[in-house]
Amino acid sequence: MTETTLQTVIRTLESAYDPATAESWDAVGLVCGDPAQPVRKVLFAVDPVTAVAEEALDWGADLIVTHHPLYLRGVTSVAATTAKGRIVHRLIRANVGLYTAHTNADVADPGVSDALARAVGLSGPLRPLAPLPDRPRLGLGRVGELPVSMTLAKFAALAAHGLPRTSGGLRVSGDPDRLVKTVAVSGGAGDSLLGAARRAAVDVFLTADLRHHPASEYAEDDGPALIDAAHWATEWPWLTDAAERLTTALAATGNNVEARVSERVTDAWTTTAQRG
Ligand SMILES: [Zn+2]
Repeated sequence: MTETTLQTVIRTLESAYDPATAESWDAVGLVCGDPAQPVRKVLFAVDPVTAVAEEALDWGADLIVTHHPLYLRGVTSVAATTAKGRIVHRLIRANVGLYTAHTNADVADPGVSDALARAVGLSGPLRPLAPLPDRPRLGLGRVGELPVSMTLAKFAALAAHGLPRTSGGLRVSGDPDRLVKTVAVSGGAGDSLLGAARRAAVDVFLTADLRHHPASEYAEDDGPALIDAAHWATEWPWLTDAAERLTTALAATGNNVEARVSERVTDAWTTTAQRG
């Protein structure tokens, strides 16, 4: 059996998630690790946080693939005086690489929002909500149909069932009895796609990190119903898809790596409270 190198894993990931399609402000690719080092175990996670680094070390991973970048802006130090610096130190000491596929995984076909769409019950063909002008099969968000019309309340329950549990669950904006069938979804913060969801004339738009004013104005103007989920939960379904794509593509070239999806909930919001 051939020894799989980090270089080979990166090449395989990049054929699925082309770094050239990442947004200009993004920071994707290899954060730490030597391309020549061997890779046997790969942990997939949404966030490159301390709990995920610890899980990787405990499991004996050689590589962590995360959706979110560790560093999005330039830094002049990775000293172990900050949480991020300590993560870099621990990973390098243990020979664990860290690799990020962020907005390039969002726009990919299939990408983050395809996995989200399937998780919340969309079964038919999907198309990007905001296609890239030069490559219309790629783009942010997805639009598709539910197999049958259902009330907004029922769809919200279906979505909650299909997504991993988080402390905040789902927040819904709109008449719970309104019928929905055409659905737009976007993994992560979807504020910027509210206009696209309206133009696509969908019945409901499910995303994360929506804010009061844009959501309130949307409802006032008879926009689609809105479902606001936990950011982490909307991106987590993609991890299984990415892990399967990586292991299948590597196996086809005689490279066998073991992949695991982290189930640690790393959403920023950890609990809720309510009067009464
Ligand atoms: Zn995100």
